[in-house]
Amino acid sequence: MAQQRRMGGQPMFILSEDSQRTQGRDAQSSNIMAGKAVAEAVRTTLGPRGMDKMLVDSGGEVVITNDGATILNEMDIEHPAAQMLVEVADSQEEEVGDGTTTAAVIAGNLLAEAEDLIEQDVHATTIVEGYHEAAEIALEAIAEQVSQDAVDDDVLKQVAESSMTGKGTGGLTAESLAETVVEAIRHVEDDEGVHRDNVTVHTQIGASSNATELVPGIVIDEEAAHDAMPKEVEDASIAVLDVELGVRTGDIDAEYAIDSIDQLNQAIDAEESEVRGYAETLAESGADVVFTTDDVDERISSFLAKEGVLVFDNVGSSDARQIVSATGANRVGALEDLEESDFGAADRVRSQNYGDDDLAFVEGGAAAEAVTVFVRGGTEHVVDELERAIGDALDVVSTALDSGEVVPGAGATEIAVADKIRSAAAGIEGRKQLAVTSFADALDVVPRTLATNTGQDPIDTLVDLRAAHEGGERAGLITDGETVTIDDPFEYGVVDPADVKREAIQSATEAATMIVRIDDVIAAE
Ligand code: ADP
Ligand code: MG
Repeated sequence: MAQQRRMGGQPMFILSEDSQRTQGRDAQSSNIMAGKAVAEAVRTTLGPRGMDKMLVDSGGEVVITNDGATILNEMDIEHPAAQMLVEVADSQEEEVGDGTTTAAVIAGNLLAEAEDLIEQDVHATTIVEGYHEAAEIALEAIAEQVSQDAVDDDVLKQVAESSMTGKGTGGLTAESLAETVVEAIRHVEDDEGVHRDNVTVHTQIGASSNATELVPGIVIDEEAAHDAMPKEVEDASIAVLDVELGVRTGDIDAEYAIDSIDQLNQAIDAEESEVRGYAETLAESGADVVFTTDDVDERISSFLAKEGVLVFDNVGSSDARQIVSATGANRVGALEDLEESDFGAADRVRSQNYGDDDLAFVEGGAAAEAVTVFVRGGTEHVVDELERAIGDALDVVSTALDSGEVVPGAGATEIAVADKIRSAAAGIEGRKQLAVTSFADALDVVPRTLATNTGQDPIDTLVDLRAAHEGGERAGLITDGETVTIDDPFEYGVVDPADVKREAIQSATEAATMIVRIDDVIAAE
């Protein structure tokens, strides 16, 4: 519909005829509906008994996941307001690495509550003010929930485990993974804090065993240039080259007129000696492990194999960068420039075969500043979901360790926060009070959803949780093996980093208030 304005009796068109415009309540309710739909899409995945989703893209590629941010990103969402909820999940993932479903579900419920308020003639501005005020109270309430005990390795393991329970860990127990995750994070911690970027997860599909291993170094997909090369080199001096190791092929194909066998032999000798020259230079340089981004001639690799040098050829550029940063090597572009000072070092470099894949492990020494969680799983889908679950766990453990603050999970924090907001609402004048109360109601979505996803009645559960909380207890809906009980989550090791809760509330509030404030949508064709 083209926009019309009248000026001096003449209609004036300010928008192109193809643009779409929705205004007022219509715009608000269409945006709110889109936002709610997004939250609804991930709701069933929340918590330890959450279900997984199978997403199939237009190319037929399948992703099976329980991770909120991954689902929303794979869904190819177009509606601009819905897209804002996807951004909530993304920023949650980026800031703290977990709680993406929680954030999206809270945002969706803040919108649902806002819709009711609008129907009761509460103005959008009042809703926005009330929500912001409630979010402030929520942050105070979270601070009151923070555990007084020190965040030690046991607590960190609980944090890791809580974030992985219910994820497809492909037969591996969340418990054993949690231990590996905490060890990895401790490994990259120093006086300045946690260097989360120094931990990578490398997954390897293997039918045989489900095992995780912590590699004190890096793991890359690279294959040794020759079968006869050593599989393992201790105390390695590592050269990283961008050099083709072979006979120099000129731009023009040289043709020799060969008259005699002698001349032929001479030509072959010349080539041989050039090859041998390369090989000897390299062998004499003192490097016992060589990574080059270019080709290596078969004769050279065979010679180097005999000399006990382990060579990886056609190394990917990003792998080369990783080796350089892990081992302290300098990348060298010409063999004659290679000096001992260019070598990197590692306690051990080994080449290992896993079915169709060959991997290089660069471990110990300088390389041990980085650490790799090396995970094996049965199929690609298992391994991918495992990688996401471990990634989340690494994030929450590093978040918890950095801030030293954890709160009870299983909905207990949300129950306590909602209660504090409701009490505070009593002292707030006018219609804003309604908005503040609605904010508290929106937070109930977390325990309610945990109840629904474990097959419990959400209303009964909420009543019981509130009653326990009012009785002065920490009250969460704990899923422990087969049983579901209302109890103190700390007693069961169900703990989340305080920052995950803070971020979820802040980003959900931000998105919901932004959507509520919109009363005019103008879309170009
Ligand atoms: P998110 O994407 O929001 O992290 P999850 O599916 O990981 O969603 O679920 C996180 C919620 O599950 C948190 O509220 C956490 O406290 C809760 N939780 C984790 N473990 C348990 C458990 N054993 N019992 C009950 N709730 C749990
Ligand atoms: Mg989670």
